[in-house]
Amino acid sequence: MKKEAANPYRLLPAVEEVLSSPAVRELAQRTPRGLLVGFVGELLARWRAEIAAGALDAAGLEQRLARGELALALAARVMEEQRAGLVRVINATGVVLHTGLGRASVHPEAAAAMQRAAQGYCNLEVDRLSGERNQRDERLGLQLARLTGSEAGIAVNNNAAATLLILNTFGARRETILSRGELVEIGGSFRMPDVMERANTQLVEVGTTNRTRLADYEQACGAATGLLIKVHTSNYRLVGFTEEVGAAALAALGARRGIPSAYDLGSGRIEREGTPPLDMLGDEPEVRAAVASGMDVVCFSGDKLLGGPQAGLIVGQQARIAALRKNPLYRALRLDKVTIAGLEATLALYLAGRAHELPARRMLCLQASALRPVAEQLARELGALAGLTAEVVPEHSQPGSGSAPGIFLDSFAVRVRSRTHSAGELAAALRAGEPCVFARVHDDALLLDPRTLHPGEERELVAAFAALARR
Ligand SMILES: *Cc1c(COP(=O)(O)O)cnc(C)c1O
Repeated sequence: MKKEAANPYRLLPAVEEVLSSPAVRELAQRTPRGLLVGFVGELLARWRAEIAAGALDAAGLEQRLARGELALALAARVMEEQRAGLVRVINATGVVLHTGLGRASVHPEAAAAMQRAAQGYCNLEVDRLSGERNQRDERLGLQLARLTGSEAGIAVNNNAAATLLILNTFGARRETILSRGELVEIGGSFRMPDVMERANTQLVEVGTTNRTRLADYEQACGAATGLLIKVHTSNYRLVGFTEEVGAAALAALGARRGIPSAYDLGSGRIEREGTPPLDMLGDEPEVRAAVASGMDVVCFSGDKLLGGPQAGLIVGQQARIAALRKNPLYRALRLDKVTIAGLEATLALYLAGRAHELPARRMLCLQASALRPVAEQLARELGALAGLTAEVVPEHSQPGSGSAPGIFLDSFAVRVRSRTHSAGELAAALRAGEPCVFARVHDDALLLDPRTLHPGEERELVAAFAALARR
């Protein structure tokens, strides 16, 4: 007699059955029940779909169940869940302002101020002395003005928000003139023409990709012109037969015609007496110089070269800043108390001549000669671990986040190879490990650049490798 094929659906266990099975009992004790029920449901649904698609029959299913695959998949899913979310990362990539890794690390004093603001109440919109209502970024605006030599300042969520606010405030239902050489795209979704559309301003392109002259702007100016904008080509450079109009000339044109002028600097390099200059960054524009050029408003990021928390900072003429503040969009783009606290503390460091203490600045200024002994010590310790070879090689670090493209900082890195695993596998294991480590992969080797390590992280880095070697 021919044996009838069993119905595979009937073999699928019930959720309760899975949860009380010996293989899952231990997992169930340390995992919230609701979460586990959901995961079991997901797994069973996936198997059911395989059955429906004809990819899994009763015999295959029986085999899986006999091998305990359900419990294993469940354990893997719980592990994945435990690894989800934001964790601290050791950045061994050498990219100082790595957007994927959160850009600038703030100064400990800024971090402490942020924690205090987050945990308790603060005088966010009340003047302590008079008890009157005030602006949340009043102090910040004064600090920014002092630091950059401008009349006033205002802060929003990020520099993309700053650009949007400027375009909408001065250019809405009017025209905004921009050079074809500066129609930038920053990080995928931020394209100048698209942002202008959303800001409800009509883009008027002038000049060509490689050359734009003042006459091009002059000819485009008319009754409908609302704004002249200059955008720093943060993540690319035009070289060769090129010409662009400088900030001072564009600002002067705006002043002659009574048209507001704006300069989106991107990075916000701030040079101050008493702090080591960032002259390794080449032609990356400086905020104070942009303000001095006469531009009505100048905007830049808080978490790029400035070295603070994520923000968009705008400085310029009192009346222009007041106009930005009056725009209803400002209410949607403004900062929260935690970021304001972090920025005030960061700017206070600049004003006190202590900017060299900011982690991002310190990392950018590190000389290769200072990094070499750190790399050598790391190489000695990693090379002593089973299965690894490690050597010091001359390398280059990058500022990152689209600042100073083509600028490479001389550095020394540790090149690590495993005798048993590919560089990609090693990198993946480090990312999944505890603490989580990000490194560069190049030529089937792992490159560890000590430039972006915080003090003390060398030890943790070695410990992370040691933990892998034990596994
Ligand atoms: C980085 C950058 C932006 C966007 O700044 P975020 O702070 O990332 O929002 C806008 N414009 C320029 C020129 C930039 O370099």
